[in-house]
Amino acid sequence: MTCQHMKFEASCKVARLEDSGRFMLEARVRCTECGTPFQFLGLPPGLNLEGATVSIDGLEANIAICPQGQRPNPMQGLMGYELKGFN
Ligand SMILES: [Zn+2]
Repeated sequence: MTCQHMKFEASCKVARLEDSGRFMLEARVRCTECGTPFQFLGLPPGLNLEGATVSIDGLEANIAICPQGQRPNPMQGLMGYELKGFN
């Protein structure tokens, strides 16, 4: 029977980039029943210290983060809040 992918394991780790002093969240998700890793959708491949990207194989999201208060809160830009891919 094909796995319905009902149970997941998400692994996250935070990397501190020594040269720039910046922080990056590295996230992966896989189904714990069949082991299939999940691909991240809609992220450009690469590394972006000011945004979110995905690894070349699509399986690791790299999301730039910073301590609260160092940057303007995204809620201040709520007019640009986007919803995509809903039907
Ligand atoms: Zn599965």
